[in-house]
Amino acid sequence: MAAQRFQSSTIPIVRFAEIGSTNAEGLERLSRGEAMPAWLVADIQTSGRGRRGRPWTSELGNLFATLVLPNPAPVANLAQLCFVAGLALRDAVVAAAPLLSLDTLKLKWPNDLMLDGGKLAGILVEGGSDRYGRPAAVIGFGVNCLHHPEGLPYKATSLEEAGAPTAPDRLLEALDLAMAVRLNQWNAGNGFPSIRTEWMRYALAIGDQVSVKIGEREVTGRFESIDNRGAMMLRRRDGIAEIVTAGDVSLQPKVD
Ligand code: ATP
Repeated sequence: MAAQRFQSSTIPIVRFAEIGSTNAEGLERLSRGEAMPAWLVADIQTSGRGRRGRPWTSELGNLFATLVLPNPAPVANLAQLCFVAGLALRDAVVAAAPLLSLDTLKLKWPNDLMLDGGKLAGILVEGGSDRYGRPAAVIGFGVNCLHHPEGLPYKATSLEEAGAPTAPDRLLEALDLAMAVRLNQWNAGNGFPSIRTEWMRYALAIGDQVSVKIGEREVTGRFESIDNRGAMMLRRRDGIAEIVTAGDVSLQPKVD
């Protein structure tokens, strides 16, 4: 399949003052026959969601943007988009918030951007299909520019809190550019090895002992790398490799 080439500022932006979920809207548009990439951007989401339907708090002043991608790659490669998007989001934050200290800006497997140990942003990649049954994807970004929730089981943070106030539109502009660059590098999956290498450079806890919850089971091991589908490769103390696929774990640094 010939990969599409992407160019920044050419993807139309569709704006909503308020919407349930930009990802839900994107999937709906694909199923209705949307044939060209588009950004769906909302000021507020009333049913923002994360993985497995978990809620994503979506207050005015943060960025909620979904990139709709009809037919971006063979279906087997779509899970890689999570890492393409993670790198692009990191690039965009670096560009749009130059005051930020970058050494604590890390990608957390599989789909979060962390800043100084707090969750700054989440990415939700969902697969769908177009009206001809071809694979399609939506990539949702929720970025805490101004607000972050309190009282979660872990720390959340915002660019505002980090002393790098950034308008959602400035971040969107940088993200549009960064996504075009990273999607072209990915090249429908042919370029995933270089995406993978760069993602690991900025990954949280790579090389460290981590605990991973897989349903009711908890596995502890050294986070060695991600494989060519984006699965996490853990080395247990007994030397056995454990492959953890995206979508069913939460990662916590191991405290001995
Ligand atoms: P994790 O990566 O933290 O193990 P997850 O990947 O399942 O969890 P997501 O699907 O990215 O999490 O997002 C949903 C979760 O994120 C919610 O359950 C909530 O705990 C947290 N959350 C919701 N809104 C925000 C926000 N604005 N900023 C940071 N975290 C949030």
